[in-house]
Amino acid sequence: MKSYVVSSILAMTCPRCRQGEMFPTGSFSYREPFTMHEHCPHCQQDLAPGPGFYYGAMFLSYMLTGWFCLAFVAILHWVIGLGLIPSFAILLAVTGILFVWFFRISRSIWIHINVKFNPQHADGIK
Ligand SMILES: [Zn+2]
Repeated sequence: MKSYVVSSILAMTCPRCRQGEMFPTGSFSYREPFTMHEHCPHCQQDLAPGPGFYYGAMFLSYMLTGWFCLAFVAILHWVIGLGLIPSFAILLAVTGILFVWFFRISRSIWIHINVKFNPQHADGIK
């Protein structure tokens, strides 16, 4: 099965095989939101290569949420015409729902930058 890096990042699958899930639960189930598999269930790729590996994902998360918040409030305030207080209130509610997704997508992007795809592992050859 052919898989692309963007779809693998968005699906939060292992960067090496693009088959195994990185997280045991769905992003919107809110059960164990920060629990992550230590190894890929499909190819056994180490998903936590070292202490502090996901430190870089923290900066990605900061950038993603920062730009999201700016764009979200700008659209609500200047395009839709809501006041600033209601715009920020809606932003708080939306980020309260999306914070687990931002945490996970940042980790997914970070590990996809650092671990390369290997088609042999996608076929189940270990
Ligand atoms: Zn894998």
